Amino acid sequence: MPFRVAVLPGDGIGPEVIDEAVKVLKATGIEFEFEFAAFGGAGIDECGEPLPPKTLELCKAADAVLMGAVGGPKWDKIEPVSKRPEIGGLLSIRSELNLYANLRPAKTMEALIHASPLKEGRSKIDLMVVRELTGGIYFGEPRGRRDNGNTAYDTRLYSRHEVERIARQAFEIATKRRHQLVSVDKNNVLETSRLWREVVDEVAKDYPQVSTSHMLVDNCAMQLVRDPGQFDVILTENMFGDILSDEASMITGSLGLLPSASLSDAKGDAVFGLYEPVHGSAPDIAGQGKANPIAAILSAAMMMRYSFGDRETGERIENAVEAALRDGLRTADIHEKHTQVLSTSEMGDAIASRL
Ligand code: NAD
Repeated sequence: MPFRVAVLPGDGIGPEVIDEAVKVLKATGIEFEFEFAAFGGAGIDECGEPLPPKTLELCKAADAVLMGAVGGPKWDKIEPVSKRPEIGGLLSIRSELNLYANLRPAKTMEALIHASPLKEGRSKIDLMVVRELTGGIYFGEPRGRRDNGNTAYDTRLYSRHEVERIARQAFEIATKRRHQLVSVDKNNVLETSRLWREVVDEVAKDYPQVSTSHMLVDNCAMQLVRDPGQFDVILTENMFGDILSDEASMITGSLGLLPSASLSDAKGDAVFGLYEPVHGSAPDIAGQGKANPIAAILSAAMMMRYSFGDRETGERIENAVEAALRDGLRTADIHEKHTQVLSTSEMGDAIASRL
């Protein structure tokens, strides 16, 4: 049976970079069934909703979802806000598909080592932030205002179950990497962090092959700048992960290179997930063939690894990307002296041909 992939190109450069990711997947020689559906602004234009019911159904029936990006000036003023592509599309699909584990790798590419804004970032970095995505202070109730609007409050809430399932995902990932896991919290101040640490320690007992430690979030922010090479897997909650994953990802260079995966529970023996580049729809360069497709292509590599359990094909795709960069091929966003500037589809061709 071929792998069923729901493909949601979305808006702006989304369709351009997704075309290249699909091209590269086809070049692997593996059999896929790609089913395209409208999502985001395109969903509003075609069906009147950012997440049309038939798109959601298609995703639920698929083995994995490959997504481009959503949003743009055309839909920025839609009221209510909940009908806009980012909220009615992106946030809804994450909760509808129960995508509670967000994985963001940050890895040095030898050919782009000078793109790091940090001197320390120019040594080898290969880390993965595993962020809890559907709980914590972004979702906790009650939230609101009192005292005539002069006092505001949010609720940070975690249940044992929520911590345990994300911790298991992170430990599983660590077993497939360098067997080191740092759990990040604010245990000296927050009760949710004390529960977090307790549960992580319990789960750690099932993974004796993984070396586990704890770090306070403020220290982790500092260590990422001081010595990012020390980390393998960083496990953390929603808000800390939001901030730390942005910090970690930029250490390696450009936005156009960064993939992500959002995982749910296993479907059969494979993990169900949605894979998308970290960047947005880049309306400033849409339709001009200038977008870098590497983030989308590396997201497809993550899909092979996590949803299809095919680490080898994931590595083959990553190696093909590295080879194209080593050969001096670049899109405009990462262009340097002595490198050749390619269009989005030429870059896709170059990577596909190196598989
Ligand atoms: P953006 O990531 O779209 O663009 C930021 C800058 O990076 C732009 O200058 C853009 O040209 C450049 N850039 C981004 N991706 C690139 C690529 N692959 N190749 C080359 N250059 C690239 O962020 P933004 O401008 O803040 O947002 C634009 C729209 O995207 C907004 O509507 C926003 O809401 C939406 N957005 C969507 C997602 C998502 O779908 N996951 C994420 C972020 C932003």
